[in-house]
Amino acid sequence: NRQQSCDLILFGVKGDLARRKLLPAIYQLDKAGLLAAGTRVIGVARESASDSEFCASVEQTLKQFVAVEEIDKTTFERFCKRLQYVSLDFSSDQYQALADKLSGFDNTPVYYLATPPSLYAAICKGLEQRALNLEPARVILEKPIGHDLASSKEINQQVGQYFKESQIYRIDHYLGKETVLNLLALRFANSLFSSNWDHNAIDHIQITAAEQVGVEGRWSYYDDAGQLRDMVQNHLLQVLALIAMEPPSRLDADSIREEKLKVLKALRPIDESNSHITTVRGQYSAGFVGSKQVPAYLGEEGAQADSDTETFVALKAQLDNWRWSGVPFYLRTGKRMPEKRSEVVITFKEQPHNIFHETTSKLPANKLIIRLQPDEGVEVQMLNKIPGLGKNMQLKATTLDLSFDETFEKKRIADAYERLLLEAINGNQYLFVHRDEVEHAWRWVDGILDAWQTTEEKPKSYQAGTWGPVAAISLLAHDGRQWDE
Ligand code: NAP
Repeated sequence: NRQQSCDLILFGVKGDLARRKLLPAIYQLDKAGLLAAGTRVIGVARESASDSEFCASVEQTLKQFVAVEEIDKTTFERFCKRLQYVSLDFSSDQYQALADKLSGFDNTPVYYLATPPSLYAAICKGLEQRALNLEPARVILEKPIGHDLASSKEINQQVGQYFKESQIYRIDHYLGKETVLNLLALRFANSLFSSNWDHNAIDHIQITAAEQVGVEGRWSYYDDAGQLRDMVQNHLLQVLALIAMEPPSRLDADSIREEKLKVLKALRPIDESNSHITTVRGQYSAGFVGSKQVPAYLGEEGAQADSDTETFVALKAQLDNWRWSGVPFYLRTGKRMPEKRSEVVITFKEQPHNIFHETTSKLPANKLIIRLQPDEGVEVQMLNKIPGLGKNMQLKATTLDLSFDETFEKKRIADAYERLLLEAINGNQYLFVHRDEVEHAWRWVDGILDAWQTTEEKPKSYQAGTWGPVAAISLLAHDGRQWDE
């Protein structure tokens, strides 16, 4: 039996992340029978409340964030029995109440720090003072791990004072997505792909993460970060690393993370000498997303009129290694795009010679499309003969569509947080990010941020509801390519 009895201790349980994602995910794990009988869920927050008041508030939260058909009385009653509450100011040294709650149980403590990273050090220290950090305890950290390389090192070093690397689980929720994991299956379980996964077969790769939403009332938080820090440093580089890594020798944390790290180390630096031809920064102006009129970034609630934070980035990343020599990875991510879409498009090389030239002047390249959201699935675009008699062969571009919803119709697709929490409960780090990966990703991103600052590169305007500034189109057009739409 893989399940271990544990205490899931949620710091910041009244916050947005805990309410919207964590409590619903833990509830779903319980519903699926994946929590061991003795597992407890201990909410920790500043305000005082009893266990029963906490349980009542969790019930309200679940009603808000879990689909009605997923809530059933039996599961909720079982779930409620697991819930306990501790009131604590995280920056105080009053951790005895938590220690009392945990003592006398043989459960593995799994601390989830759903708090601003500025509190990580205080929380870890508070735990250490009551010897609550000792193995087999684990700690889960949320992004952002820092604002740049220096601050990420500081956070890692602070947490590292109290927890060993083998106890630390850094979340990147993209790694919990079904299709991101399916990348491993596609690549390493199918010789069709594994033998065609390099510069000989692949022309280029595009990774897009487009959102329709704007800053969602979090203008000042977002303005400090911007799209490069918020999306590229973590999610997009993690996806890139999984696509580009060498086959790991085993499906375990050390093997996979070592291979991802090599990819991050192979990223060609972007600095002021090449940032103008490899990066595009954008910021949205007012426009329409769907039929809804939306304000400019600088017109959002709480905005400061002179901000030049980017809400869109397009990048050409290159890997200086044998496998990917000459294969660009185009990354694109933005807010207020025409649709919500995250996907990877792998474009294979064109055929060297066209024997169908009488009916088809150009043979379009095969594409493998991995859709991460909203409709997770995999698609292969290929050419087929149109059935029928006739002198010349007529070809048609067709799509082999492996939509998860349709192919695995009885299976509910688990939320990324469900999978990640389950892996942390089971002590498996392979879907979590190692300290070295975080720092190498920051090193590369810092180069871009420095270049933008040195060259005084300002964001280019794009209208809300479009695919970013025209320069993003030129970035690919310059190489004779275009974004996949
Ligand atoms: P949030 O809504 O601001 O929640 C943080 C919680 O921490 C609040 O409930 C706050 O309680 C509590 N807190 C702050 N200082 C405290 C203290 N000294 N003692 C006790 N409690 C304290 O933030 P969030 O959106 O949930 O995000 C949590 C973390 O996850 C952040 O690092 C964020 O960047 C990251 N994250 C969030 C999301 C998301 O979707 N929300 C996504 C990815 C990553 P009070 O209300 O009492 O101040």
